Amino acid sequence: MGIWRRISNFFNTCLHLLKQIWHSLVSRKRQERISLVFSSASLPDPKLTVEKWIPQINALQDALQQKDVELAKQADQLKAQIAVVEKIEHEKAVIEARYQKKLKAAEVKKRNLAQYHERKKDTRTLKQQVEDIVGKGPKWLPHACETPLSHIIGKPLGSSGAGRPRPELIHETQDLMPHKCFHCDLALDAQPAYYVYDTVVTDLHRELDEVGAYDILRMKNICYRIHRKKCPRCHRWIYPVRGLFHNARFGVGFVCYVISHRILLNLTYIDILRDLRKIFGFTVTVSETAIIDWFLKFEAQIHAVYTQLEALVKEANFAHIDETGLPMRGQNWWLWVVCTANLVLYHQSTGRGHTDIEDILKGFQGTIIADFFRAYEKFKNNPHQKCMAHLLSAIIELMVKLEKENERMTLKITKCEAVQAREQADAEVERGTKTRGRKPKAEMLTSSQLDMMERRSQANQKTLRQASTLGAFFRQPFQDTVYNWEKPSTERISRATAESQLNELLISLRTQGIDDDDLENLLKRCEKFRLELFTYLDHPDMPPDNNRAERNLRKFAKQRRISGDFKSPLVGKHLVTYLSLYMTCVTNERDFDHLLHDIVTGETVDLRAFLFPDD
Ligand SMILES: [Zn+2]
Repeated sequence: MGIWRRISNFFNTCLHLLKQIWHSLVSRKRQERISLVFSSASLPDPKLTVEKWIPQINALQDALQQKDVELAKQADQLKAQIAVVEKIEHEKAVIEARYQKKLKAAEVKKRNLAQYHERKKDTRTLKQQVEDIVGKGPKWLPHACETPLSHIIGKPLGSSGAGRPRPELIHETQDLMPHKCFHCDLALDAQPAYYVYDTVVTDLHRELDEVGAYDILRMKNICYRIHRKKCPRCHRWIYPVRGLFHNARFGVGFVCYVISHRILLNLTYIDILRDLRKIFGFTVTVSETAIIDWFLKFEAQIHAVYTQLEALVKEANFAHIDETGLPMRGQNWWLWVVCTANLVLYHQSTGRGHTDIEDILKGFQGTIIADFFRAYEKFKNNPHQKCMAHLLSAIIELMVKLEKENERMTLKITKCEAVQAREQADAEVERGTKTRGRKPKAEMLTSSQLDMMERRSQANQKTLRQASTLGAFFRQPFQDTVYNWEKPSTERISRATAESQLNELLISLRTQGIDDDDLENLLKRCEKFRLELFTYLDHPDMPPDNNRAERNLRKFAKQRRISGDFKSPLVGKHLVTYLSLYMTCVTNERDFDHLLHDIVTGETVDLRAFLFPDD
């Protein structure tokens, strides 16, 4: 519109100018005429007067001509300007026409579309039809749970909630308020608190019964009233820190209860839910996905503590290692246990080679106590202690086998003799008299067979004597002798002496000659590992056997019997992690639930301080 106003202003100015010019021209001519009349009237001699005025008139005519030229020039300029204005006006009209045309077309389009929708209304979706009637409502807002710093709290007013309904019966109410600013560490206790919102958390509590005899589990709905405070230093609103339980509907006790049931009793999620309903009634509503989510949520925390455990194990002077099969989705995986006097660490792997535990033993300088499995031999930088109990049980096994064989041979010979005696007796009685009793049945042995058995029996007796000598030697560490590992080091035999005594024993056995293959293998084993059998004598409190690892594997074997095949490596990893921490707590007589509580509340757990508070 500005351009039109400017053009009309310009027009007006032009008109004004023209009028002024016109007026000035007209008045000048009139004055000239008047002055002529006056001068002619006063002149006495017209001819003289005319001649006298000619140059003046000529001058005036010249001036007039000049003025005419100027005026013509100005008129031309005006004409040009008017032409420009006309051109602009024309363009304006064109544009306006085009705009009107478009407006009209849009109007037509809208009308047609409306008509089309009217006609086709039935084919449209229900949602669109409803939107036609009630209009488009506000879009669904992201829930405050989605991001911790979401500005939008909850869904729009009036929209239906999702998940568990808020419990109506409240057992107790607690006020939660921040105690210090987590930006600048300023104590906020003196600041006024402002109530913001409340949240109901269902939690499990362990309480003593009325007479103080037993624990009882109680489920409570606790209403937390959240208050905020303003930090006077950084002027920020500070809310109470609730860590991983921010926006949670179930409390720490509840989560710990479910996780322990999952890990320690190896219950399925559905069984846990069933169990909860059985104890606390059918109003307990927690979904299977919620439980799985807890596991995922706390995985990072749990793993951090597991890493601490790994580091602690690496510092140890010695570690027991053992392995067992782990059925994983139809394949055979392996479960390793690495344990010290007060730490237990499980680890799952696909294979059974030394590479599968290399990571765990990386940086470990201590003695490896293990059985005679070849994978452990690869750790050449570590001192070794071979399991004496394994050796001893192999010797006992051999002795039992030989004794049984001897018993069988003796029985056979006795029976054979009984048959022979009966036959002889039968032959001696008179014909026609009845012999009483059933005849003993036995295979008759030829004299060469009897001779062979006799020789075999003697060889067995010799091997038995040798084996029992060897057995007696290796039983010493577990008896009240100088070899005993629990004796103070001053009362023990030295490692070098023990090794030389073993050597002497081996040589003496060799000189007697070895008849049995099993005993031969046992002796070979002793000779091969003779420098790795008495390492324990150099260290206080180091046991000469691997029983500790085997005991710790038994806990797992029990679970394996219940669950059979493991469904996923991830679940296996969880189990291995939780089980490690659980068994470590049990070994140190520390409360696993307490540790779990610290872990799931997001507190930084110092495992060393937790396990060994006296150090
Ligand atoms: Zn602050």
